[in-house]
Amino acid sequence: MQFLNLSKQRLALRGPLRRAVERVLNRGAFILGEEGATLEHRIADLTRTRYAVGVNSGTDALYLSLQALGIKSGDEVIITPFTFVATAEVIANLGARPVFVDINSRTYNIDATKIERVVTKRTRAIIPVHLYGQMADMQPIMHIAKHKRLAIIEDSAQALGASQVVRGKRRMAGSLGNVGCFSFFPTKNLGAYGDAGMAVTNDARPAEVLRLLRNHGSRKKYHHEVLGVSSRLDELQAAMLLAKLPYLRRWNMARRRIAAQYTRAFSGIPELRAPVTNVGSYHIFHQYTVRTHRRDALQSYLEHHGIPTAIHYPLPLHLQPAFKYLGYHRGDFPEAERAAREALSLPIYPELRAAEQAAVARAVTHFFTSEPA
Ligand SMILES: *Cc1c(COP(=O)(O)O)cnc(C)c1O
Repeated sequence: MQFLNLSKQRLALRGPLRRAVERVLNRGAFILGEEGATLEHRIADLTRTRYAVGVNSGTDALYLSLQALGIKSGDEVIITPFTFVATAEVIANLGARPVFVDINSRTYNIDATKIERVVTKRTRAIIPVHLYGQMADMQPIMHIAKHKRLAIIEDSAQALGASQVVRGKRRMAGSLGNVGCFSFFPTKNLGAYGDAGMAVTNDARPAEVLRLLRNHGSRKKYHHEVLGVSSRLDELQAAMLLAKLPYLRRWNMARRRIAAQYTRAFSGIPELRAPVTNVGSYHIFHQYTVRTHRRDALQSYLEHHGIPTAIHYPLPLHLQPAFKYLGYHRGDFPEAERAAREALSLPIYPELRAAEQAAVARAVTHFFTSEPA
């Protein structure tokens, strides 16, 4: 068994993927062409937003969105310490300061009740991360952002197709903030065969600036209005993503089904906590992450029984050497630190076979019934 097997999906879609590649090769346009434009329309439709701008990666989507919203050196941006490094990296690389807020121990997402106390005169934005495929609690975050005049950039890299009911209306991940950012890194729910990302927004202004920034600040060849970068989503990746996109809904449903089966299998184990789904939340289970005080022992046991697992994430960002200069210490964010010690992700992907899934559930159950603490 593999923690994630991408080859099954690639083989199943061999025909459509090959035709997509051939179409681009035959046309001979590789950067900023019709595949990318079509993908932008489809992702805007899917997320129910007005504009989508393809870029080179999820990280660039975040970086360029911060820039497009005017975040600059000396500004502060509020984020969770329990996320992939990119969320904090982009803030720091702009010369702005990542300001961490601890997580909610049930959902692993930012604890909205702790945001307001870290807002200062320099705070400009909040980046909620929709971790593991479940959206952060957006209503209180939007309330604070409105009252403190802060921008919201949703890090939706793990949440394409996730949604949440906000004030009685179902809202898609990426559509609630000023800008929403997606990643098509190969291991994400919709994965490219290389790097790719996208930013979505309902506002014309950031969309226009993002289009400039990703292409050397240029709208007209050799005329450069602003200082930009080279960060386009190329045509080959766009064409292959378009070939895969029709299956995303089914794939997310398959992930949810596997998650429900795991959770049912684990319901009688008091020492293990299955993922919690909020009311009104459509969780797409990019990861299925359990927690237990006996995480390391469980991981070794599973490894010994041929079941690979992963830890997302073993070291919270405030304790990473790269962010030492921010001056945070161990103990500053106890919930994030506890999650880093207790969280364990189990294999979950649409092509995971029923027998494999049953083997995972059986081994986990067996560990807790046969290996006393
Ligand atoms: C994957 C990921 C990113 C970065 O996306 P890339 O396309 O790899 O640059 C950012 N944030 C989170 C939460 C991610 O999971």
